[in-house]
Amino acid sequence: MIDLPPFRPPSEASSYLLRVVRGCNWNRCAFCAMYRDLKFCQRRKDEILKDIDNLEKFFPRSNSAFIGDSNPLIHKDIVEIVEYLKKKYQVSRVTAYARIKTIAAMPESKLKSLKDAGLTRLHMGLESGCEEVLKFVNKGITPEEAIKACRKAKKFFEVTYYVITGLGGCDMSLSHAKDTAKVLSYAEPTFVRVRNLTIIDGSPLSSRNFKTISAKQQLEELKMIVAETRAKTYLTCDHISNYLFTKHGPIFFGVSGNLPEDRDEMIQKIDDAIELVEVIEKSGGKVFTSNDMYKLGLIML
Ligand code: SF4
Repeated sequence: MIDLPPFRPPSEASSYLLRVVRGCNWNRCAFCAMYRDLKFCQRRKDEILKDIDNLEKFFPRSNSAFIGDSNPLIHKDIVEIVEYLKKKYQVSRVTAYARIKTIAAMPESKLKSLKDAGLTRLHMGLESGCEEVLKFVNKGITPEEAIKACRKAKKFFEVTYYVITGLGGCDMSLSHAKDTAKVLSYAEPTFVRVRNLTIIDGSPLSSRNFKTISAKQQLEELKMIVAETRAKTYLTCDHISNYLFTKHGPIFFGVSGNLPEDRDEMIQKIDDAIELVEVIEKSGGKVFTSNDMYKLGLIML
C-alpha cells in the first residue's frame, strides 16, 4: 500500500501526492494539531521510489506533484527523489511544504540542485509578521528569517506564504495585521494564502485562555493586510476558514486578486462585508467565524 501525505494545500487537490517524511520535525506551533501524535521520521529512499513507481495506480494522470509531510526538503536524499519523480512523470509543477527556518539556513547551492532536479514551488507558513505573535504561538522563526527565506527561495522557485488572520487574538490584532503586511512587502512571495485562525481540538492553543477575534475584526485584519502589502503578489482566501456565516449560510467568501492591481476592488468587497456584519449585528443577528462554526460542529477543517 502506498504511503500518502495526510495533508496538502487545496491548490494541490489534483496533484500526485508523495510522502517523503512523516510528520513535522518542529511540531511545536501552538495553533497546529496536524502531526501532533506522529513521531517525525524520514522515510526510506527505496520505499519512496517504489511509491513513485506506483503513483499512477492511485491517482488520475496529473500535470503536478506535491511532496509532504511538513518539511520534506530536509530528507537526506531529496534531490535524488525529485529527480526520479521528474524522470518518471511529465509533471510541469513539483511543489513541497517547507519550514521558513530550514530555507533561511539552506545554502543556495542546495536550492539550485532542487530546482535543477525539478522542484518548482514551495508552500511556507509565515502565519504572522509580528515578532510577539510568532513568539506567542511558538512558531520558531523571526520576521527577519521570513524575509530572508522568501527572497532567497524566490531566486529558484515560486513561493506561497500562508498567513493566519486572528492569530494575535484581540490583544495583538492590530500589530499582527500591520507587521504581517510589512513582512509580506519585503519578502514578496509569489502567492499569499490567507487562513482565519480556527482553534483545532488537540492544539496547544485550545487549552490556553485566548480571546479570539470577532467577524468584524477578521475583516479589518484582512483589509489591513490587503491595503498595506506593497509587494507584487497574488493574494487569495482559498479556504473555508475565511468564510463568514449567519444561521442562513455563508455571507462572505474571502477575496482574491493581484496586488497592487486589484487592491481597490478587494478593499471595496471587504468594506461591503464590514457594513453587512454591522447591519446584521445591529439588528440582533449573529455572524459566525470559522472558529464559531468549528466549535458548533458545523464545519470540519
Ligand atoms: S504549523 Fe507547520 S511547522 Fe508548525 S507544527 Fe504545524 S506542521 Fe509543524
